[in-house]
This record gives sequence, structure tokens and C-alpha cells, in this order.
Amino acid sequence: MKIVAYRLKGRSGVGLVSADLQQVQPFDLPEAQSDLGAQALIEMQARGDTLPALLPAIALSEVQIIAPLPKPRRNIFCVGKNYFAHAKEFAGSGFDSSAKSGGDIPADPIIFTKVPESVVGPGAAIEMPVVSTAIDYEAELAVIIGRGGKGIAAKDAMAHVWGYTIVNDITARDWQSRHQQWHMGKSFDTFCPMGPWLVSADELDGTKTRVRCYVNGEERQNASTVDLIFDIPKLIETLSAGITLYPGDVIATGTPVGVGIGFKPPKYLQAGDVVRVEIDGIGSLENPVR
Ligand code: MG
Repeated sequence: MKIVAYRLKGRSGVGLVSADLQQVQPFDLPEAQSDLGAQALIEMQARGDTLPALLPAIALSEVQIIAPLPKPRRNIFCVGKNYFAHAKEFAGSGFDSSAKSGGDIPADPIIFTKVPESVVGPGAAIEMPVVSTAIDYEAELAVIIGRGGKGIAAKDAMAHVWGYTIVNDITARDWQSRHQQWHMGKSFDTFCPMGPWLVSADELDGTKTRVRCYVNGEERQNASTVDLIFDIPKLIETLSAGITLYPGDVIATGTPVGVGIGFKPPKYLQAGDVVRVEIDGIGSLENPVR
């Protein structure tokens, strides 16, 4: 199933997207739950509860699609340098405060987080901050945790995956480098475009799908998640070793080669640009830069 969150006539809603992507069937949910997008539905399924009744369908063109988890319950977990070719381009950029000489491929997953308030939906503007001149895009497959847990073994991890969405891990490269810890440069307001909807794991094999990014229509990134250095089970095993995972947790799995910092000279985002991330089996997430 595909679950979309939206606004219509000043109210929030969440519903099932039809197979032809033309309609949404809203779930009959209290507004306090709809305000959190798909969160309540993921929690219900994690408990083994049945989903709420569906209301009559609405044309998808009538609603304003927002991020499927517009207010994630806590920080978004992210993985740094998780594709071989990107790890090399980043280490070679001079902006990588984590690079050791001769060791640009990490031995263990590099985990950082973005604050929940950085999330914006499809079509929302990525705001250029006045304090940075080095804003970059990172197209990523994001894993949505269904059933939570701690100490989840890699062999059991995929049973904890509810599904997937697209995240654009927008980054202020100068802040990422200068402050060494990546958290601030990754967490500016509007720096986490997410959407357009969630796709459940029975509809998409996230371990074998293609991630692409276009800036103003020019292809910048194009890779398969088969090429992840640390695959989804390994990421869940690593994160859950000491941190309990909860339903609705988001794990952005890392970005492929082709980010702006990898070009000489770098191709940073500029006001007026349009960034589109596409993932096979999910759809596309497009955001203007303002
Ligand atoms: Mg990233």
C-alpha cells in the first residue's frame, strides 16, 4: 500500500493512494492523529490492530500532499558515506571532517541525525540560509520502521521494516566541515524534504531499487541500493544494538555518487533551482530552492 498525508480545506488527512495514483481514500482518523501523517497507522499495524475504516475517495489533484511523516516522533537517523563511489568523492572533496588519510571507506556505519523540524513535503521550498553558501542535495532511500525493538539481528531486521519513502538529505557543506559533527549542517530548517508517500515493504524491495537525482532536469545521481556499503539489515542491527527503535522511526540510508561537492568546481544549489529525487517503486519528490 501507499499512504499519503495531505491538507485539504485547512484540515489534515491521511489515506491510501489508488493503484493508478489518481485518488486517495482517507482513513477515518481523529484530527490529532491525522496531523502526524502515517504515524498512527504504522503504530496500529505494529500492534497488530486493524486499520481504521476508509472514507470515500478524493482526487489526489484536489489535495496538497505533505510529508508522509510531517512531524517525526524524533530525529531522523541518517547514514554517512554509504555508497563506495560517494565515499571516495566526499573524502576527495576536502570537506570531509571524518576522513582519515587512506581510509575513505568506513569500517562501520557513520550515523548522524537531522532534527524532526527539518522535514518538509513535496513541492515545499528548500530555503537557502543566509549563513551558508554551500548547500548540497543528497538523494536517499529512507526506511520506515514498523515493529520496533532492541538488539535486532540482521537476519531478522527486514521483518521490522514497514516500508520506504524518499528523503533529500540537504546539507550545508561549510557547516558540516567546520563543526566536524554533521548535525547542524544537516538540520537547518527545510533541509529534509520527504515524500511523496510511504510505500509498504510488500510492494517494494528496498534492497534492490534505483535512486536518481536531477537538478533543473540534469541527472546528477543514479545508483542502485544494491551498492550500499552497509545494507538495510546491517543498519538496523547497528542502530538497534543500543538504541530501541520505535514504529515510525526513519532511517535515511545514504546517498550515491554525484552530489554537488563532488564536481570541480562544486555545483551547489542556488535559489531558483528545482531538485527532483526519483526512486523506482516509490515515485518522485520535487522541491524548489528559494
Ligand atoms: Mg546523506
